[in-house]
Amino acid sequence: MKLGPALLYFALIGSTASAQDVRIGVLGLFHSFDLTVSSTTGSAIILRADDRSLTLDASAGLARASIRAHDAGLVVRTATQSLAGHEVTLASRKNGPVDFVLSVPGKITRHYRGRLAISNVSGELIPVVTIDLETAVASVVAAETLPGEPIEALKAQAVAARSYFVAGRRRHEDLDFCDTTHCQFLRSPPPSQSAAFKAAAATQGLALTFESQVFAAMYTRSCSGRTSTPVENGLPPGNYPYYSVECHYCRQHPVRWQSRISAQNANNLRPSNEPSRLEIDRKLGWNTVPSSDFNIKPDGGEVVLEGVGQGHGIGLCQAGGKAMAEDGANFRQILLYYYPNAELISLPR
Ligand SMILES: [Zn+2]
Ligand SMILES: [Zn+2]
Repeated sequence: MKLGPALLYFALIGSTASAQDVRIGVLGLFHSFDLTVSSTTGSAIILRADDRSLTLDASAGLARASIRAHDAGLVVRTATQSLAGHEVTLASRKNGPVDFVLSVPGKITRHYRGRLAISNVSGELIPVVTIDLETAVASVVAAETLPGEPIEALKAQAVAARSYFVAGRRRHEDLDFCDTTHCQFLRSPPPSQSAAFKAAAATQGLALTFESQVFAAMYTRSCSGRTSTPVENGLPPGNYPYYSVECHYCRQHPVRWQSRISAQNANNLRPSNEPSRLEIDRKLGWNTVPSSDFNIKPDGGEVVLEGVGQGHGIGLCQAGGKAMAEDGANFRQILLYYYPNAELISLPR
């Protein structure tokens, strides 16, 4: 029996999570031992640790709490109270989503809308935000938006991001996604008057399917004039085969790059091999090797990499999609160009 998109969608997400929520590990790059949370909008937020709780409420003069590792658990402190437990959660009074600010002190501050759970894994704090799917989509579109991007390109980006969230869950052991380009780059939710918010709202619930199944649509900043398939780049095939399509914009406007790394670090690096590129980037910093399409030239104890494109080069090319939108294409045309043989469906609510 072949399942329709709706049934497959529910089969994919399982019965434990809300169909419209995604769990995203945030700020993991900072490997933090110490976090602060604060309330922003005047609505109270409730922090819970084991079976005790405390309330942050800016209008009552108590807006901030710090959270630190303590033995195998965590301790939460405000100016007047403290709590300890194995996991700390944050939500609205009704245990629903709430606006809050999460900071790694001295390093980064981000606003989120959702529920937060923090655990202590070997002394490092692991914050995981549960976000409504549409808020997560708008946040990714905002993070991925280039200046001056036309709305149809943003709408294409929104559908790709939504499809990825729906079909790509469990990218990590204990959570669905991280907030880096390893999964999808995500920062704070955009304001409702922003183009990113409007692009997500205008495509609400739309996702890409192949053979009636939603697939985790991959996308790339710019390609080398032709997009790649996962198999060409040393990745498993997945449930959408992808196709190598001509990208007229990148053919005429290739983004060329050069990088220099030690021969020792380059030992396992091979062109057209995403796993080896990601291994280098994880070790030496994201964007050390900006794409998989490059030549390697030895130079003493180092190697010089000369390449073209940004990202894995698979699926929607953001630079090419932007150019298509500027030429009058709508988001459906952009998506079906870069994802041939795919279809667009409305996800069940
Ligand atoms: Zn990830
Ligand atoms: Zn391209």
